[in-house]
Amino acid sequence: QKKIIIIGAGVVGCSTAYYLSKMGQRNITVIEQGPLFETGGSTSHAPGLVFQLNSSKLLTTLANQTVECFKELSSDEKPSFHSVGSIEVASTPERLEDLKRKAGLAASWGMESFILSPEECEEKCSLINSENIYGGLYVPSDGIAKPLRANEKMAEFSISQGAVFYSHTEVTDFDVVDSQIKAVETTAGRFEADIVICCAGFWGPRIGEMAGVTIPLQPLAHQYVFTNDLQELADETEEVTAPLIRDQDRAMYYRQVFKGLGIGSYQHRPLPVEIREITKYGETKEMPSVKPFTPEDFEKPWQDSLKLLPGLTQAGLKRGINGIFSFTPDGMPLLGEAQNVRGFWVAEAIWVTHSAGVGKAMAEWIINGTPSLDLELCDINRFDNFALNPTFYKKRSIENFEKVYAIHHPFMPPETAREMRVSPFYLRQKSLGASFNEKLGWEQPQWYDANALLVENYKNAIFKRKGWAAEYWEPTIEAEHLHTKQYAGLYDATAAKKRLEIKGEDAVEFLQKLTTGNIDISVGQVMNTFMLNELAGIKDEIRVIRTGEAAFLVLCTGAVEASWIKRHLPIESRVAIQDVTAATCSLAVIGPKASDVLQSLAPEFFTSKVWQPGQAKELFIGNVTVLAVYDSYLGTEGWELFTTFAQGLQLWDRLVESGQPYQLIAVGDRALENLRIESLKLRSGKDFWSEHSPYEVGLHHMVDLNKQTFIGKEALLERNNEGPKLLAITLELNDPSIVVMGYEPVFDEDTAVGFVTSAGYAYHLGKGVVHVLVLPEAVKASKELSIEYFGERYTAKIIRESVVTV
Ligand code: FAD
Repeated sequence: QKKIIIIGAGVVGCSTAYYLSKMGQRNITVIEQGPLFETGGSTSHAPGLVFQLNSSKLLTTLANQTVECFKELSSDEKPSFHSVGSIEVASTPERLEDLKRKAGLAASWGMESFILSPEECEEKCSLINSENIYGGLYVPSDGIAKPLRANEKMAEFSISQGAVFYSHTEVTDFDVVDSQIKAVETTAGRFEADIVICCAGFWGPRIGEMAGVTIPLQPLAHQYVFTNDLQELADETEEVTAPLIRDQDRAMYYRQVFKGLGIGSYQHRPLPVEIREITKYGETKEMPSVKPFTPEDFEKPWQDSLKLLPGLTQAGLKRGINGIFSFTPDGMPLLGEAQNVRGFWVAEAIWVTHSAGVGKAMAEWIINGTPSLDLELCDINRFDNFALNPTFYKKRSIENFEKVYAIHHPFMPPETAREMRVSPFYLRQKSLGASFNEKLGWEQPQWYDANALLVENYKNAIFKRKGWAAEYWEPTIEAEHLHTKQYAGLYDATAAKKRLEIKGEDAVEFLQKLTTGNIDISVGQVMNTFMLNELAGIKDEIRVIRTGEAAFLVLCTGAVEASWIKRHLPIESRVAIQDVTAATCSLAVIGPKASDVLQSLAPEFFTSKVWQPGQAKELFIGNVTVLAVYDSYLGTEGWELFTTFAQGLQLWDRLVESGQPYQLIAVGDRALENLRIESLKLRSGKDFWSEHSPYEVGLHHMVDLNKQTFIGKEALLERNNEGPKLLAITLELNDPSIVVMGYEPVFDEDTAVGFVTSAGYAYHLGKGVVHVLVLPEAVKASKELSIEYFGERYTAKIIRESVVTV
C-alpha cells in the first residue's frame, strides 16, 4: 500500500484519515503540530453551525454527507451532531423572496424545508422577536456539529485500522524528486511518503510553498462572541435545543450554548491575516487561530442582534474572539492533487459543514482515481496562472468574505481584481459599451449598449423579463438574439473554451483513448465527442479539429480538462500538449447573413457553398491567417474563426467593417446562451457533468462502442445495464409570460423529481424553455410536470425526451 501522510488533525485531516481507513487504506500517518484534538486550528473553536443548503449542489451534497457521518459517529452521551434545525430569517422583503427561491433549491437538492410566517418563526424559537422580520426558512435537518468529538471518534477508528497520529510534530519541509513527493521532513524526523495530503487549514499556503505548490487562499479573521445567560434559557440543561438562527440581511448567525448564545458576525470590515503573521501552537498564549477581539467591530452587530433577539439586552456580552479561517477567490474549497507536484494532494478551505463529505471524496479520489461526485468546481487545478497571483486571490477572497451573506444573483459579476485577462478586441468592445462579466479571468461581454438602438426595431417581438429574471438583464440582450437570427452576429468566443494543441506521432492513439468517438477523422474535419472519466461520467464534451496528420486543436469547456488531459498522457508517449488559449483568440460569425459577410472578405474561400457542417479550413482574411470551422451549432449557420492573439484585432476590424452592409453586430454571451437553449442544445458542465453518463443525457450517438477501448468504456457498459438514474430532457412552460433562471425544482404532482439545469426563452415557441435532469419514472409520454419558481408552480410540457439505450 502507498504511504500516506496527512498534515493537520483538524476536522478535515481527521475526516480524510477516517474515510481512507474505511476504504481499506492502512499505511496512514497524521502529523499535527498542536495537541490532539484541540490542536489550536480553526476546528478548535468552530461553533459548528451546519446550514446545509447552498446554491451549489455539490456543497449541499458534501454537507448532507457530513451530517450523516457525524450522526453515525454520535453516541447518546456524546452526540457529534445535534439535529435542532435552522431558521433563516428575512429582515427585508427581498430576503423573503430569496428564501422562497432557496426553498425551491432545497427541493431541487432533495432536502426538506418550509417557509414560515414571522409568528411561526417565533413559535419555533421563542427567542426571536417576530415584529422585525418578514418570515423565515426552516430546515429541520440542519444542526450543530461537534467536530472535536467527531475527530476523536474518527481518529479512534483510523488508529484501530493501523493509522498513526503524531501530535506536537511540525512539518518543516518536503523531499520532492522529479516533481514527485518522496518524503516529509518534520520536527520528529523524516517520513517516507508516496502521497501527502495537506489539510493544514489556513497554514496551507505555507505548507504549499515548501512543496512548490501555490495554494490560493486568504486567511481572514471573523468575529464570534459568547453572551451571558439569557433569562429565557434559565431552565435549560442541554447544550443546544433551540434551532440555529441566521439573519443574512445583517450578516449574523446565532446558536444556543447552554443558557447563553454564541453569535457570529460577517458584518465587520474584512480582517485579512498575512501568512507570515500566523503563529504555531504554543508561540502565543491564545490559540494560533485566534486574534484579539476588536470590540469596535461588534458594536453595530450587537445592536442589530438586540432587535432580533431582545432577550440579549438583559444578558449582555461575555467575551469574543476574532477567529481565523480560509477564504478562496471563488468561495469554493481547494481539493485534489497539485498539477506540478505528483503525490501532493490538497484539502483546504473547507468548513466543518462540508468536512466529512470532503474526507469521503478525497478518499475515493486517492484510492479509486476518480471521486463519485464531480469535484471540478473545487479542483485545485481550476486556476490558471493569473489566478495564482496573490493580487488576484487576496482581493477576490476578501470580496467573497464581504458578500458571504449577500443575495447572489447568478449573473452578478465580481467587483474586484478585474481585467486579469482581456481578448485582443477588448478596447473595441468597450467603445461599443460592452457590459462585461468574468469567465476564468477573461473579461467577457454580456451585451453591448451600442445595440440598445435595436430594441425599438424588435419591440413587438422582445420577451420582457420580470422580477429576478430581469435583474442583470437588458432588453438589448433580446434584440441581439433576434437580430442575429435575422442578420448576423459577431461573438467573441475567446473565453468560451480552452484551446489545446495536441501533436505528435502518438496523438491519434492518445486522443482515441481519451474520447468516445472515433477521432481518426480526415484532416480538416471536426468532431464533437465526450471524454469520460473512469466511472463513465462525462468529464467534458470536447471539440476535436484535425489540423494535420498528427496534429489536433482540442476545445474544452471547463477549467480543469486541460490538466486532466495532461495527467492521462503516458510518460513514454510521443505527444506534445500545449495550452494555446492565451496565445490565440476566436471569433464566431453567425446568422443567415454570416456567409455574405465572409464572402465579401474572402470570396475565394466562401463563394461556393462548399462547406459541410463540421468542416475546418485554414484560410486568409486579408493579412490574417485563420482556421475557420463551419457550424450550425445554434440552429443557424456560422463560422468560428481562430487566429493568433497578435492578429485578432485586425480580424475583428475587418469583420466589423465588411459586416456593415449585412447588418452584422457584435453580440454578447447572454444572447448566445439563449440561442443555445432555444436550439435545445445541452451544454457540458451545465446540463450534465461527470456524475452523468452519455446515455442519461440522451447523447448516446456520441459514443462509438465499436472502438476497442476508451477511458470509461467498461464502466459505461456496466452503467447502461443498471439503467439511468436521471435523464436530461427539455420542457416548455405552458404560461408564456414566465421564464425561470436555473436550479428550480421539477415536480410530478407533488413529488420533486428533478431540477432545472438551463433556462431561457424560445422565440420560435413563444414560451420559456428549460433543460432539466429528472428521475426516469417522471418521463412518461404527454405527461405534464411543473416547475416551482419563487414558491409558485408552473406547468410544463415535455418537448424533448432523451434516448435511454443504445
Ligand atoms: P484546522 O482546524 O485549522 O486544522 C489544520 C491543522 O493543521 C491545525 O490543527 C494545525 O495545527 C495543523 N498544521 C498546520 N501547519 C502544520 C504543520 N506545519 N505541521 C503540522 N501540523 C500543521 N465552519 C462551519 O462549518 N460552521 C461554523 O459555524 C463555523 N464557524 C466558524 C467560526 C469561526 C470564528 C471560525 C474562525 C471558523 C468557523 N468555521 C465554521 C470554519 C471552520 O472552523 C473551518 O473552516 C474548519 O474548522 C477548518 O478545518 P481544517 O481541518 O481545514 O483546519
